[in-house]
Amino acid sequence: MRAPRTRRHRWWLLVVVVVASAPLWTWPLRHAPLLWSAFTYRRPPTQMVVPVQGLEPSRLISTWHAPRSGGRRHEGADLFARRGTPVVSAVNGQVWRVGHDSLGGQVVWVLGEGRTLYYYAHLDAFAEGLAVGQHLERGAPIGFVGNTGNARTTPPHLHFGMYRVGLTGLHPRDPVPPLKRRVAMAPARG
Ligand SMILES: [Zn+2]
Repeated sequence: MRAPRTRRHRWWLLVVVVVASAPLWTWPLRHAPLLWSAFTYRRPPTQMVVPVQGLEPSRLISTWHAPRSGGRRHEGADLFARRGTPVVSAVNGQVWRVGHDSLGGQVVWVLGEGRTLYYYAHLDAFAEGLAVGQHLERGAPIGFVGNTGNARTTPPHLHFGMYRVGLTGLHPRDPVPPLKRRVAMAPARG
């Protein structure tokens, strides 16, 4: 027995709606652990530290969306410092990923306050014992300034990115305005 024509129609309509809306639900499904953890960090930071030790906040310059190679736009802040200068966590959070990518070189992703992923790139080395899942207090060591990845030909600097974790993806934002608003100097470590 065949289903009535109108009901078959509705079945196809459902398939079309599910497929067309795939970008809306595949991302949250694939990133469920990230979304869950981000929820626990939903409160925005009351204070941030400049993630390069000793760098004066007045020297932060926004290069947001400046043109980059391959038609890309700059999505972060470049904090120039001598090679080996300690890089510290800008906020309270947890280490989400420690690894390597072709643009960023040696990178660390930290999920932290304001349900945001904080991206630390071009590191010369990672802080000793840094491990995924580890809790980081604001100002805790992450690594050291370098020029790994596509920064090979530039002076050493930290590329610092901020990506708000949304229901359908990551939303990059300029780190300089929130840093200047909530800034405290990175504490000197002995
Ligand atoms: Zn950069």
